[in-house]
Amino acid sequence: MNRILFASAFLLSALPAASADELPLALPAAATLAPAAPASKPPAVKLLEPHLHIARTNMPGHARIALTFDACMGRADDRILSTLVRERIPATIFVTARWLKRNPQALAVFLQNPDLFELENHGENHIPAVDTPTLVYGIASAGSPQAVRQEVEGGAAAMVAAGIPAPHWFRGSTAKYDLSAIGEIRTMGYRIAGYSVNGDGGSLLGAAITEKRIASAKDGDVVISHINQPIHAAGEGVAKALVDLKAKGVQFVRLDDVEDTGDDKTTE
Ligand SMILES: [Zn+2]
Repeated sequence: MNRILFASAFLLSALPAASADELPLALPAAATLAPAAPASKPPAVKLLEPHLHIARTNMPGHARIALTFDACMGRADDRILSTLVRERIPATIFVTARWLKRNPQALAVFLQNPDLFELENHGENHIPAVDTPTLVYGIASAGSPQAVRQEVEGGAAAMVAAGIPAPHWFRGSTAKYDLSAIGEIRTMGYRIAGYSVNGDGGSLLGAAITEKRIASAKDGDVVISHINQPIHAAGEGVAKALVDLKAKGVQFVRLDDVEDTGDDKTTE
């Protein structure tokens, strides 16, 4: 237990605000068995964290923004979900198979509002889609092309089984990939969803800074934040930022609504 606590503290102190996607508190076995493995050691693999932008309106005062939310594991954040529904704000939600299993009520809300929510694939078990063995923020990567494929296909299968239309966007755990995994996922028919604004620092930021980051999104931005941490302060900031952006007259779109441009060969 001490080792697990040590490793978790080490992990959280390593890069809390830099991570775009949420990091699990329960580490995979490989990480807990090797707490001495330094997170600062350069990975053997070149990891990419692709950007994504949507087509701009290029009209002053009429910014167009895509809000994307990851549902990695844990519960639904009703502060965010209820605001999206009440304010009729469209968004793209990336769900894992494991999150879907635990959140049938939130899923029902998504499915009852198809005009608002586009549901896409965040993988089966929230394992980084990197096809070489490495650690990403201390999390063991999928480690092989077969395991990357399983993560993607397992996520999609759970979605379809839950009554969700087949996904065609994928965003992996940690939002980091290697170039060969990007190529493999693209050949499976997916576009890969990067982002341009890290809204909540993996749900670990405070409410005020989260609100400020998201509310400052500009025309053409794709914002990443989380909808699965109902007791984190960040979610309060997300909910406030939604209202701020709406008051500014922002046009909210889902990834499928507009033309999207990603780097690192993620969309073309
Ligand atoms: Zn995630």
